[in-house]
Amino acid sequence: MRQPAQQKYVWHDLLTKALSYSLPEIPIVLAAIIYTHWRGAQQTLGGVAFYYPYAMFGAGVLLGWRFRRSRLLFALLLFALVDRTLLGFVTSRGFTRDHVAFQAMAFLLPLNLAALALTAERGVFTPPGLVRLGLILGQIALVAVLDRGTPGAAAALLHARLLPPRLFVWTPLADPALLAFFASAGLMGASLLLSPTSTGRSFSWALLPAFLGLSQVRAGNPGFSTFYFATSALILIVAVVEASYHMAYQDGLTGLPARRALNEALLRLGSRYTVGMVDVDHFKRINDSHGHDVGDQVLKMVAAKLAQVGGGGRAYRYGGEEFAVIFPGKSVEECAPELEALRTLVEEAKFILRSRIRSKRKKEKILAEKGPGKRVLVTVSIGVAERDDRYSKPDQVVKAADRALYRAKDGGRNQVRT
Ligand code: GH3
Ligand code: MG
Ligand code: MG
Repeated sequence: MRQPAQQKYVWHDLLTKALSYSLPEIPIVLAAIIYTHWRGAQQTLGGVAFYYPYAMFGAGVLLGWRFRRSRLLFALLLFALVDRTLLGFVTSRGFTRDHVAFQAMAFLLPLNLAALALTAERGVFTPPGLVRLGLILGQIALVAVLDRGTPGAAAALLHARLLPPRLFVWTPLADPALLAFFASAGLMGASLLLSPTSTGRSFSWALLPAFLGLSQVRAGNPGFSTFYFATSALILIVAVVEASYHMAYQDGLTGLPARRALNEALLRLGSRYTVGMVDVDHFKRINDSHGHDVGDQVLKMVAAKLAQVGGGGRAYRYGGEEFAVIFPGKSVEECAPELEALRTLVEEAKFILRSRIRSKRKKEKILAEKGPGKRVLVTVSIGVAERDDRYSKPDQVVKAADRALYRAKDGGRNQVRT
């Protein structure tokens, strides 16, 4: 049943996934690359570009402070330190590939970004935050000591030949720094695949402009280093803003768009649409007999099924164990089969109790009382209504669908009523 539709979902999912990993970072990085390679852009935008790093730094500090994003603040501190040090070299000594401080920074920067990305948000003026601050300050001291105290030995270490030289002549970064970039990218990429987060994604992408910024050392245009570091900051800032948007519009448990998104979508609908209200049957019983954690898992499962709705429908979490599906431009007759398919999909889903539950005590309880592998029956009741002359406002249509839902409950649950 529904084979072609399933196929479509696979491609759609893959594309959505690829885009979700690369938007808006790819356009941002591309724009930065075009700017640094195109004189025309530099001439027209030069005046604005001068303020770009200051704007990013200011906006980043403001956001990091107001949204309590300490990792953004620490990343900005790192970029500012590296940038200032690089600019210091330009005036005093000029860049060379053998520069100890440069190679040390190029080695430490990606590792620091990875460390921030892979650890949790812990604040700035908290014990973990102060430890991070201490570690960063310690690295400044380390770089200074390496640079001044033992330049010969440090240079030898930081220029150790570890990679095939012919492959990497194009970059001013020596092998240890390059390996630090590769290792950081690999670590962050792996952790992204395991658990995608917007912070992890943005820090991974921020590596690229950071690398390009350090590479500008050879091009002899130190302003471009600053420009690329500002681009890294921009990527981190955009991610914080996006994450906040998602927090407001997406339901944290199920990943479906939330009530707020539903309300806005209802206002955008035309003169013809259908609303389906979906409610999990006897959900309180599931919660009571298996615990709240299992209840949450059931909600996630139901949401995943509803997200597969066909016929141009879109599912939202209305609240608690209630969901709404809206079909723009569709009549009840067109939507009823789609909703019926959803009802069957949930009914046929095999929701198996697993023993892998976080709390040890709970795990034992479930093992003892129910045993893992036991199937929990989950069903939903659905009420449907469309917009017409009698119910012309979105909230009236929702109420009508709700009344149909009550009829479905009264009629014995696990059914669709119009
Ligand atoms: P009916 O078949 O008539 O819909 O019965 P019901 O038990 O599903 O309905 P009722 O409205 O009485 O119970 C809903 C329960 O859902 C009550 C509440 O504790 C639970 N609930 C609401 N939100 C969540 C949630 O996010 N997670 C979990 N685990 N339970 C939730
Ligand atoms: Mg309910
Ligand atoms: Mg219910």
